[in-house]
Amino acid sequence: MGRAPRAPRPRFRPTIAPENAMDEIAAPLRQLIEELKRLPGIGQKSAERIAFHLLRADRERSQALAQAVLAMRDGLRLCRVCQNISGTEVCGFCANPRRNRALLCIVEQPRDVWAVEKTRQFDGLYHVLHGALSPVEGIGPEQIRLPSLLERLRETNAGGGPVVEEIIIATDPDAEGEATAAYLAQLLKPLTPRVSRIGMGVPVGGELDYADEVTVSQALRSRRTL
Ligand SMILES: [Zn+2]
Repeated sequence: MGRAPRAPRPRFRPTIAPENAMDEIAAPLRQLIEELKRLPGIGQKSAERIAFHLLRADRERSQALAQAVLAMRDGLRLCRVCQNISGTEVCGFCANPRRNRALLCIVEQPRDVWAVEKTRQFDGLYHVLHGALSPVEGIGPEQIRLPSLLERLRETNAGGGPVVEEIIIATDPDAEGEATAAYLAQLLKPLTPRVSRIGMGVPVGGELDYADEVTVSQALRSRRTL
């Protein structure tokens, strides 16, 4: 009882030019892959893997993902006090009575808050600038959240809350971050007993949120008074 002879395997003959390879893929799938590719760190291969994974998974998975993305867009705002992203008018940090109100850390972006938090070295409050000064790009003090910082300090100093004893400037150690730190130091020194700059643990020219926890820890510990 011999096996039926196998049909000859069809020879692979590429007939579609690589640049047109996506043309024959169903449009909704192609659209999803294109959208995924816009995300940081996602290339063609990863985008395809995610799209096909979602295609295989239950419809509920896709629905949960789509809803989570939209809920994040629509449900978040900036904290009235520190300008960090928040689901409520005042964020979790500002509302937490256990945070040390005498310490204030100034960062460029909300993701930098996470970088500092992960070190577990800091229990104070934050202020998020949403940028750094850049004369080349036309970004001046009014374009970043500097006025709200000054107003916040003026209110605190006027007796509205415990006085800030130290402000740690944790802007990125690149040209814009350093220029912003120098500018802030001049503005803030008359308002606060100590203004400090994070140490050199974060590589020069680097970004705070790309540094690992140990490096950010070191940078915080080795801060110097300006
Ligand atoms: Zn806040």
